Amino acid sequence: NYFRNDFRGTLFGTNDDTDSLRRRSLQKRILVTGGAGFLGSHLCELLLGAGHEVICLDNFSTGLMCNIAPLKRFDTFRVIAHDVVEPIDLEVDEIYNLACPASPPHYQADPIQTTKTCVIGSLNLLDLAARRGARIFQASTSEIYGDPHVHPQVESYWGNVNPFGPRSCYDEGKRCAETLFFDFHKFHEVEIKIVRIFNTYGPRMRPDDGRVVSNFIVQALKGEDITIYGDGSQTRSFCFVDDLIDGFVRLMASPPSLTGPVNLGNPAEFTIGELAEEVIRLTGSRSKIVRRPLPVDDPRQRRPDISLATEELGWRPKVNLTEGLAHTIRYFDDLLSRSMRESAE
Ligand code: NAD
Ligand code: UDP
Repeated sequence: NYFRNDFRGTLFGTNDDTDSLRRRSLQKRILVTGGAGFLGSHLCELLLGAGHEVICLDNFSTGLMCNIAPLKRFDTFRVIAHDVVEPIDLEVDEIYNLACPASPPHYQADPIQTTKTCVIGSLNLLDLAARRGARIFQASTSEIYGDPHVHPQVESYWGNVNPFGPRSCYDEGKRCAETLFFDFHKFHEVEIKIVRIFNTYGPRMRPDDGRVVSNFIVQALKGEDITIYGDGSQTRSFCFVDDLIDGFVRLMASPPSLTGPVNLGNPAEFTIGELAEEVIRLTGSRSKIVRRPLPVDDPRQRRPDISLATEELGWRPKVNLTEGLAHTIRYFDDLLSRSMRESAE
């Protein structure tokens, strides 16, 4: 029995010891923290489909049980309700650390918890990786670059980050996490893999996530006003979730010398105004665009330089914005129709 912690947090999944099976095959036991979230649930699904044993650890602060409920069909899937701020001991071969709210309204709602999640959470998981000899992956972010003076952003750029603004709990938390990862690599020989993720969207974002793609789609489908913050001339580069997750597993499987950080994102850059127009076009919505104040420290522009990922991982995104938005619109359309039917019953 490999759970050293008590079992109160195990929500479902068998506790059968599958060690011998695992040792005889290429199957790995993989911990995904934040596994019930948007990106984490897609990652769990891909790893389970590839035949691995997956432990999803989540405190369900922004993650949803409905994201992972369909994965119960895999008897190699377990879910543990746990906060990464508390230490944990599990026998695992690999760790993907995705635990952290990613949407500005969510990570700013409890900024001290966000910093603790990034810093103490990473420390706990790095301790676990060192103890178990596990390879560990960190979901870092383009926020490391802050409001960048270098465009497009290359991994060697150190960034322009406010240390005590509303975004700092996340930006500085993630920067400190990178520091911890490199110091564990240097002093404890832990194998690390760091990705810097640029804005990613797709099915399983929450309708109330608060990030721009889900906001615009939900507003358009409901016929509500589409809220552009500022004048809409700020830019972002939007990556479809399937492309991103493919990059995750490629990096995890790469030689130990490739620690990252590696940028992953779609280099096609759009203004927020262009995104709103595209969502209106694809949904055929009659929603009108309204302006709201630009949040403090909102970055002006974002575009990843993905040369490193292309050269080292053979990775480049395949799904363009129109295709990715169409998929995501179908997802939200189904979700909203279902919830309308349920509330009518
Ligand atoms: P999300 O909010 O959907 O998922 C985060 C998950 O982490 C949720 O399931 C949440 O319940 C869980 N979590 C939060 N704090 C926790 C804690 N203390 N202990 C255990 N679980 C905790 O967000 P997402 O978009 O899926 O992001 C996943 C990761 O990727 C995050 O680390 C985020 O910083 C990073 N990232 C995402 C993007 C993006 O565009 N989606 C961009 C940059 C970085
Ligand atoms: N944004 C917007 N309307 C919204 C939500 C966000 O105009 O309803 C803007 C936001 O100000 C930012 C961009 O869209 O300039 C991307 O915001 P998001 O929260 O998705 O991600 P991040 O700012 O972290 O890149």
